Amino acid sequence: ATSAYDPNNIFAKILRGEMPSHKLYEDADTFAFMDIMPRGDGHCLVLPKKPSRNILDVEHDSLAAVMRTTQKLARAVMKAFSAGGVTVQQFNETAGGQVVFHLHVHIIPRFEGIALKP
Ligand code: 5GP
Repeated sequence: ATSAYDPNNIFAKILRGEMPSHKLYEDADTFAFMDIMPRGDGHCLVLPKKPSRNILDVEHDSLAAVMRTTQKLARAVMKAFSAGGVTVQQFNETAGGQVVFHLHVHIIPRFEGIALKP
């Protein structure tokens, strides 16, 4: 079973403006900013504004908005970094590799022959 949403997680603080971030995009339902420990050039994150822990509890409207913004940003960062491809990644619960418990999608521009940093 999953736990309740913690309103004091680091991304909730970024969304409330209590913590700084390098913002890339914002609309009524989503927010995107650069990852602080990028696994490659242009690594950024897309979040729903509505509190949800991960893909297991998110509402459909919020999920749809996140994926629309993910597509926008994937296209934009690929172009901005002249990347050959883009990796879209998303982790759920500790066993699934999740560290911050506010739903987020990773967007990482990719280049032929260049592996992601661990
Ligand atoms: P995940 O939960 O997806 O496994 O990992 C959380 C991701 O958020 C990591 O890629 C990490 O570098 C990033 N991250 C953690 N804390 C911060 C922060 O305070 N600011 C930003 N911009 N990114 C963060």
